[in-house]
Amino acid sequence: MADDQIKKAATLIRESKYTSAFTGAGISVESGIPPFRGEEGLWSKYDPKTLEIDFFYRNPKESWKVIMEIFYEFFGKATPNRAHEVLAELEKRGLLKSVITQNIDNLHQEAGSRVVYEFHGNSKKLVCTFCNAVYSVGELSMDVLPVRCPKCNMLVKPDFIFFGEAIPQDAYNHALEAARNSQVMLVIGTTAEVMPAGQIPIMAKSNGATIIEVNREPSNLTGHITDIFLQGKASVVMDELLKNIIKT
Ligand code: NAD
Repeated sequence: MADDQIKKAATLIRESKYTSAFTGAGISVESGIPPFRGEEGLWSKYDPKTLEIDFFYRNPKESWKVIMEIFYEFFGKATPNRAHEVLAELEKRGLLKSVITQNIDNLHQEAGSRVVYEFHGNSKKLVCTFCNAVYSVGELSMDVLPVRCPKCNMLVKPDFIFFGEAIPQDAYNHALEAARNSQVMLVIGTTAEVMPAGQIPIMAKSNGATIIEVNREPSNLTGHITDIFLQGKASVVMDELLKNIIKT
């Protein structure tokens, strides 16, 4: 990570009137949550079809077994890392307006970020597929699968979107508005391959935003959408970036 690039990024953020962050699975890797793709990704172990919405309705027990293992026995124990904390700190200092996240792990909120638009929903909440009652994880027993609604006995599903489901309308609208308003967008730990989320940085760029990308390796955006590429682990780069923002 070049020193002059991080200084340039820090200056841009300090001078920007509207900075947003767009985050993906990579920001949570150092919290112990693997991404979906790549050699160590979840899809090397699990079949993605178990998270297709049609499969879920036809085979709820099978789907729920995988959901339990990935999202509750494993993800559930993760805590925020330095990269999440730095975003919360930037918001507190008035230097970051919003976080648009593709993640469903709730770690931005746990780190203290308040304005978080969850493009793909949240795994810490459960919703009844029939009466729309919403529950926190822990409120419902998961001893017998599939999980059923205590009010109507119908199927309960985690409140994140499955393959084949639409993006939550509110998050979608807010994310687009943030992208349009951004003078600077920090894009952290995403391949930007998942659509339509991957369009967010492109939309921000086409509305005049400067794109600062943080990633361990180049992504789809690097080189043509990205203006400043800060290569490295999210926690290390974000810590360094914060130091540069507050010292200058
Ligand atoms: P992805 O799996 O496609 O890509 C992850 C990106 O993070 C890669 O570009 C990789 O180089 C980078 N990366 C890995 N470790 C990093 C680190 N320590 N620091 C910086 N960068 C790092 O992720 P995606 O683009 O977010 O798409 C995957 C989809 O899967 C998303 O839509 C998301 O909803 C979902 N997902 C969420 C979680 C979560 O909630 N934590 C985890 C897995 C997948």
